[in-house]
Amino acid sequence: LIALPPAIFGESRQNSEGINIEIESEWTPFKTSIDVFNETQWQAGPIVNGERLVGKTLSGEAPACEVLAITAPYDRRESVGEVSFATRDLVIEAIDVASNAYPEWSQTPVAERAACLVRLADLLEVNTGELVALCHREAGKTIQDGIDEIREAVDFCRFYAHQAATEFAQPHIIETYDGATKQLTYQGRGVFACISPWNFPLAIFLGQVSAALVAGNTVVAKPAEQTSIIAFRAIEMMLEAGVPNGAIQLLPGTGAEVGAALTSDIRVAGVAFTGSTETAQRINRTLVARDCAPVPFVAETGGQNAMIVDSTALPEQVVRDVVRSAFASAGQRCSALRVLFVQKDIADRIVGLIKGAMAELSVGRPELHSTDVGPVIDKTARDKLVTHIQALKNRATLIAQAELPEVCQYGDFVAPTAFEISNIDVLENENFGPILHVVRFDAGKLDQVIDQINHTGFGLTLGVHSRNERTYSYIEQRMRVGNCYINRDQVGAVVGVQPFGGQGLSGTGPKAGGPHYLYRFTQDVYAV
Ligand code: GLU
Repeated sequence: LIALPPAIFGESRQNSEGINIEIESEWTPFKTSIDVFNETQWQAGPIVNGERLVGKTLSGEAPACEVLAITAPYDRRESVGEVSFATRDLVIEAIDVASNAYPEWSQTPVAERAACLVRLADLLEVNTGELVALCHREAGKTIQDGIDEIREAVDFCRFYAHQAATEFAQPHIIETYDGATKQLTYQGRGVFACISPWNFPLAIFLGQVSAALVAGNTVVAKPAEQTSIIAFRAIEMMLEAGVPNGAIQLLPGTGAEVGAALTSDIRVAGVAFTGSTETAQRINRTLVARDCAPVPFVAETGGQNAMIVDSTALPEQVVRDVVRSAFASAGQRCSALRVLFVQKDIADRIVGLIKGAMAELSVGRPELHSTDVGPVIDKTARDKLVTHIQALKNRATLIAQAELPEVCQYGDFVAPTAFEISNIDVLENENFGPILHVVRFDAGKLDQVIDQINHTGFGLTLGVHSRNERTYSYIEQRMRVGNCYINRDQVGAVVGVQPFGGQGLSGTGPKAGGPHYLYRFTQDVYAV
């Protein structure tokens, strides 16, 4: 058993002599804010035309909506607050409001629209303490993941604000071969529906909404039902930042009710969605079935993400990157590693190191400094993952399973688990949690590995570990994936640095945080 350095994604624990080393980090103040917000009970609900409809409808009558009690994923005995869900009638009203607000917002100078996002970014930074506490209590995030989440949300706002202000303020001048000068301007499209997931409840939620808004659209946003409170607070801050009441509507609720009502309304002029491939396919069918003009659909979905490791790779580095890619954020990232392909010549060594590293993983309450892996989002997710683990215990070789301490019995935890399987096609679905599958491959069989991965039809992230430039270039050129990471981990794309998004079953593109994303939310108009 070869142990990795003590803290795998925390800052410190014990050194090899068993001495505690305390490292001052940006983490410490956020632990304090989690303590400060420990007793807070949040109330959230729809926001339509600037009105917070917590427990009431727009006309002020008794709520015709379901009220959901929110509890903490790491301890279901802890209440976090309540969320009122939107009714189908409210979906119609919200689209009315957004449609009426569209002409004015789309004519608002782009510099003003961008300034709203910059002010929002400032407000997110001012309120980071509360937002980290919410990421922790509502979504079960570790403190480090919470900090990263707020950072990414801020980055999205500033990135799209800057791009819109520089690229949409003036017409693009096109010089054509006939010597004439022509102009291309970028305008909004109308009402955009933004449907976002619980795994990045602030960053992806605000990434979609801010892109759609700054491009000149008005927005009706449906956050994941598990993380409606964070979305509610974010929209309150957006209104405070100066986005007009009509431009942004928030509709918490389920996909089956609110999502379906929203996407089937013919006034919706475009949809941005991040979530499962299945849901994306359902939305796509709904959009196609509408009796109106086709509209843009930007989808970022799931993956069956692989990493390929050849015999020239550095084992310690491989294992560090495997552990982070597979188990960080409890494996609840679309980008997370699911299937590790290791060349047979070094497979025993790599598998041995993975066992050692997994024995060091600490699973538990996400606010503790020592915790590497927190809970999964809810019981449904947990049950699915546990069923998959049970099924593989009969059909595959267990490499290792981390321990679940007693405290985990109160929440929805899944023990990080690694199996050796014969091939990637043993896996029918994406398993959205801390489960790693390892496949050994023979030297000289790289082409088969590439074919098998491509054959899944997914194409989100791929990791490659090799010190041979010809090998990694060969792989990179043949893989049909959105993001290929060489000799590093494959999670944690940074806005503007690693534009993120997949192909095939993993999404339509263009990539979030990349140069082309905003353009998909616009209509380009050509004038001679
Ligand atoms: N952008 C994230 C990452 O690179 C993943 C986004 C997602 O899970 O949807 O890890």
